[in-house]
Amino acid sequence: MSENCLFCKIAKGTIPSKKVYEDEDFFAFHDINPAAPVHLLLIPKRHIVSMHDVQADDAPWLGKMMALAPRLAAENGCRPGAEGGFRVVVNTGSDGGQEIAHLHFHIIGGERPWHKR
Ligand code: 5GP
Ligand code: ZN
Repeated sequence: MSENCLFCKIAKGTIPSKKVYEDEDFFAFHDINPAAPVHLLLIPKRHIVSMHDVQADDAPWLGKMMALAPRLAAENGCRPGAEGGFRVVVNTGSDGGQEIAHLHFHIIGGERPWHKR
């Protein structure tokens, strides 16, 4: 938990969100400004700023996070198979377009056409 971090507060429930998933290590919720019919944010509960901070020994929990993405996509309206699908976007740092300094996966999908972000 980082004192002034919006996503830490969302994971703790002190700032409300439309939650779609929670377990011991992860929290997922709807993006407040969706870029597509399905737009979720998946975060680790532990505060880590970005992919810049990822080390080799983070592989186990990062692997779990990656494996959660298709499950949450499917549970929240992304169609399965080659005709369906979704995107996982991890904006990293200023040049990477990251605005919130707590690592997050954007899970973006829904039937096309929709504006490409
Ligand atoms: P970034 O640009 O850091 O990759 O993405 C941050 C995302 O967080 C944006 O898509 C933005 O709409 C979303 N966001 C910012 N503030 C809030 C909030 O208070 N609640 C929710 N649910 N999403 C937020
Ligand atoms: Zn945080």
